Amino acid sequence: MSRNKKLLVIFLCVLLFVVVPACVSFVLLRPKFQVNEFVETEQVQYNAPMEYHAGEVCYGNVFGCSDVQVKREGEVNTSSLGCYQVTYVYSYQGKEFELKQVVEVVDTTPPVLTVQEEEIAYCPNGSVPNVTVSAVDNYDGDITDKVEKRFEGEEIIFESTDSVGNTSVVRKKAVQKDEEGPVLTLNGDESIYVLLHERYVEEGAKATDNCDGDLTSEITISGEVNTDKEGEYTLTYSVKDKSGNESSKTRKVYVYQKNVDVTPNGKSIYLTFDDGPSKYTSELLDVLKKYNVKATFFVTDQNLTKGYDSVIKRAYDEGHSIGLHTSSHSYSIYSSIDTYFNDLYAIQDKVKRITGYTSMLIRFPGGSSNTISKNYDHGARIMSQLSKEVERRGFKYVDWNVVSGDAGETTNTAEVVSNVINSLGNKSTYVVLQHDIKDFSVDAVESIIQFGLAHGYTFRAYTMSSPTVHHSINN
Ligand code: ZN
Repeated sequence: MSRNKKLLVIFLCVLLFVVVPACVSFVLLRPKFQVNEFVETEQVQYNAPMEYHAGEVCYGNVFGCSDVQVKREGEVNTSSLGCYQVTYVYSYQGKEFELKQVVEVVDTTPPVLTVQEEEIAYCPNGSVPNVTVSAVDNYDGDITDKVEKRFEGEEIIFESTDSVGNTSVVRKKAVQKDEEGPVLTLNGDESIYVLLHERYVEEGAKATDNCDGDLTSEITISGEVNTDKEGEYTLTYSVKDKSGNESSKTRKVYVYQKNVDVTPNGKSIYLTFDDGPSKYTSELLDVLKKYNVKATFFVTDQNLTKGYDSVIKRAYDEGHSIGLHTSSHSYSIYSSIDTYFNDLYAIQDKVKRITGYTSMLIRFPGGSSNTISKNYDHGARIMSQLSKEVERRGFKYVDWNVVSGDAGETTNTAEVVSNVINSLGNKSTYVVLQHDIKDFSVDAVESIIQFGLAHGYTFRAYTMSSPTVHHSINN
């Protein structure tokens, strides 16, 4: 082989074994970063989570690709619409590669518009009442009040557009129909009580209609009230809407007389007030006086009654019965017969000092049926003894058969009224238990009296000759 040929062989060998592999490896082994689905401007939905674009580094097709670390520089606040500039930095074994991106936070989500009714009834005047519609937008929140509706042939088109212009449309079949009557509401109570010869003041009523709006001026009232004649009168309030749907309500007006103390027949109510007197007793006496009602006060000499001796005097002078409820109203009075009577005589003396009258009428604290006395009498069955002993000594005791609930179960005037009037029926004797140390209970008295008088009851003071109302003894 000539020298030239040798050199050529060496050259080819070098080319084949050194240069070509070097070039091949340079091309194949150079790391190449690539990022999937990368776009220079990317849209992200309002409040949607921001995702990272995963990247990888590849060394040609021969050696495959590896995942790389990726880091995003620059803030994107997806809860604020707008454009943000970010840079993705991909790194692998000390080599870094950067990609810049513009992120647009956008809202392309339309409001969620719902109309519950399948078919929409609309009024003769074209208004559309009673549609259960709601529009809630991912960006604007509740935009129900901005829902627009319009008629299109046989349909009503509901349309809701959010603040960036995304719109939802719901179409519903429309039918002209008004089958709903006006809503009629009485001003004042359904039962009104008017004293004989006093004036009845008509308070009227209100009416609103789903289609026709305020119809108060269209209300007609039928029926009459003659306040010079006792009785129960019915007034009927009626109103029609323009489609002829009618609504009506009635009111009862009771014209009644002040209390007349008649011979004991018919139905009697004995209002009794325990534990007082108190600062509320005077106003109670005023109410009783207004209706000529006599009641019964079972008085005590507790601290809260101090300073109201004149109220006891007034009650007595105005014809009410003054009964005895013990002086201390402490349940320790039930520790013995003597303890009880000592306490009882103390209040009897006090009443005598104030009124000059020796009361023999009593009410046991807790009533004759109480069991709390068991805590004090050491097994002596004190109530069995006392109930006999008081009568042996000439006293008369009375319990009650109507519970007003003012002793703790309720603190509400309206409830006291309804507890009492709902307990009244056709019996001849109702003894109502209330406490004139409770303002809410005192406030209930006028309504109780009005109801009683209007329904034929006579209010009476409880006296030594009144019908017996006793509980059964439990101790
Ligand atoms: Zn009491």
